Amino acid sequence: MIKYLDLARINSRFRADIDRRIAQVLNSGQYLQGVENDNFCLNFARYCGVKYVLGVGNGLDALRIMLRAAGLGPGDEVIVPANTFIATILAITQCGCTPVPVEPNLTTYNIDPVYIERAITGRTKAIMAVHLYGQIAPMREIQELAQRYGLLVFEDSAQAHGAIYGGKRAGNLSHAGAFSFYPGKNLGALGDGGAITTNDENLYNRAHAMANYGALKKYEHYFKGCNSRLDELQAAVLDVKLKTLDRDNEKRRHIAHYYINNIKNELIINPQSYNEDAHVWHIYPVRVKKRALFQSHMQSCGIETLIHYPTPPHKQNAYKEWMQLSFPITEKIHNEVVSLPLHQELEKWEMDKIVEAANAFN
Ligand SMILES: *Cc1c(COP(=O)(O)O)cnc(C)c1O
Repeated sequence: MIKYLDLARINSRFRADIDRRIAQVLNSGQYLQGVENDNFCLNFARYCGVKYVLGVGNGLDALRIMLRAAGLGPGDEVIVPANTFIATILAITQCGCTPVPVEPNLTTYNIDPVYIERAITGRTKAIMAVHLYGQIAPMREIQELAQRYGLLVFEDSAQAHGAIYGGKRAGNLSHAGAFSFYPGKNLGALGDGGAITTNDENLYNRAHAMANYGALKKYEHYFKGCNSRLDELQAAVLDVKLKTLDRDNEKRRHIAHYYINNIKNELIINPQSYNEDAHVWHIYPVRVKKRALFQSHMQSCGIETLIHYPTPPHKQNAYKEWMQLSFPITEKIHNEVVSLPLHQELEKWEMDKIVEAANAFN
């Protein structure tokens, strides 16, 4: 069976370095807020090209701490793609803001600037871009709109570590970016982790305090903050894996192009990248009308596939108030996408088997 994602295989390549770094942390006696966190945040800041990185507990925390630190709150509307992982939208809700979902583009699966402009009201404060599946959202158009209407822009970069757009990396294309280091992401920890990237010192300082019980100084609490940290073990592991992120993304790109060039089946729509460096292929989503049949066909060929994501946020029970909304493009995507195995340790024979199975579907 070819697993959708083989994390043990992916992480075993780093075993010697990870073992050594974990032993160092264990021996240091410092398990939170120590040198590993400082060091990783510095290296990740350098990598992304930003001035400040704050390590936090997970991607959802990164998103909501980022929004709160930027001063967003009740009454503020935030425009967001309707076809994202629900965390993007939960973060907006949990800050007391109102998420305003808009349709994506059916070719790129990223938010469509045409629909953004139609959704802007007097209460709109920000646009939350999501670099879905590893491809950078149309940031030039988004920034143009934001300037015209006086809005802030943020990036949910949880699927796009290392992606480059106009010479800049994900997380450095807006006011601030939120990353997740969930194990399955392009840069994944051995547990939960997240980060906020920004060039705004004030936002960084406020986020730093918010993630630390709202304290600017120990025992002086300026905000009703929370506790969200990137622990020393995860920071050490991430620092090891950051060194090969570009190489691993390059391997992902190679595999994606292999699929694009070799999966030729009129029942299957391959994804497209409209700008080479801007795609790091966190996910390789094809679209198939008879998706259930396709999945069971792949299963019978020994290939595991997943769906990202089966149900859009506006059809979830958590957002009952949106049940009446209609987003035909979003719903079409959610009804037809299916993700093929794609990761940096996938071998040629596995790629060939996946291509062959996909081409045999009828
Ligand atoms: C993974 C993910 C998140 C949430 O990250 P966690 O670390 O799991 O909280 C947010 N947004 C997107 C687009 C994601 O893919």
